[in-house]
Amino acid sequence: MAALPRQEPVPEGDTIYRAARTLQKAIGGKVVTAFDTGLATLASVNDNTPIVGRTVEHVEARGKWCLIFFSGDLILVTHMLMSGSWHVYRTGEKWWMGRSHMRVAITCGEYQAVAFNVPIAEFHTARSLERSSQVPKLGPDILADEFSVEAGIRALRERAASHPEDEVAVALLNQRVMAGLGNVYKSEVAFAAGVNPFRQLCTITEREMEAMVEAAHKYMKANVLDARPRGASGEGIVTYTGPRRTTHAMNRGDRVWVYGRQGQECRRCGTAIMMRKQGKQARSTYWCPTCQPWFAAEGQSLEAPVGKQEKLAGVRRKASC
Ligand SMILES: [Zn+2]
Repeated sequence: MAALPRQEPVPEGDTIYRAARTLQKAIGGKVVTAFDTGLATLASVNDNTPIVGRTVEHVEARGKWCLIFFSGDLILVTHMLMSGSWHVYRTGEKWWMGRSHMRVAITCGEYQAVAFNVPIAEFHTARSLERSSQVPKLGPDILADEFSVEAGIRALRERAASHPEDEVAVALLNQRVMAGLGNVYKSEVAFAAGVNPFRQLCTITEREMEAMVEAAHKYMKANVLDARPRGASGEGIVTYTGPRRTTHAMNRGDRVWVYGRQGQECRRCGTAIMMRKQGKQARSTYWCPTCQPWFAAEGQSLEAPVGKQEKLAGVRRKASC
């Protein structure tokens, strides 16, 4: 495992996202075999409720924060603003920075995660984290038992009120709006609801919000084993269970409505599926320009967004539908 980039003067959100993913791969699901810290407040928590022996349940990024969840309701929250960084080493490997810069070192068998110069590092319980005003909250978790479609609609409605110009697919991916949807589901959910993923939230009707939340819930429940860990590549996600193209039985595109199907015929109308990079993180968004018509917001271009199309040009209709 390669160490994380060591000189990231001002980590951006996606850097922290990548750092969290690397940490998750290295120590996620593993038992802590050693814990060391240069911070008195963390050391005192460790003295009272030792970290060694706990399992790293998962690691996630929220904004500029990195959260490491340990079993037994303990969460290590670090802020990576400015000089802070997490590195992953093989245990025993020489660190790239001096020990005086070490704030936290978590060893899980063969891997060691070390935080250098993090300006904030604190332990939380789920409850104190919930109360913390600094760490961004997650939206309602689509896979949680207590999730309701109403709560999802409320979350989208609130987002539309505070961020009316957010594009739909960007909002669907935003874990602070609803937690759980990854990049594959984002496109599938917008397609299922017949909503163009580039529309602004202020143009989305209540009925469309309901259709998206219902689809999100249905698809994620059906794929519950594949849906975690979040942010995975989406390998194995199934949203389309109709007849498959026989020649590519292993092709992921045969099991979904639009994701990864750029240039192929829409399963509903035959139009070529489009793809375009969207949002600050330039994530791929797939959609059918016919089934997901464009409605511009006030002051927005009336021109529908276009994306790359391959193989098929223009509109072709399937005889069957
Ligand atoms: Zn279509």
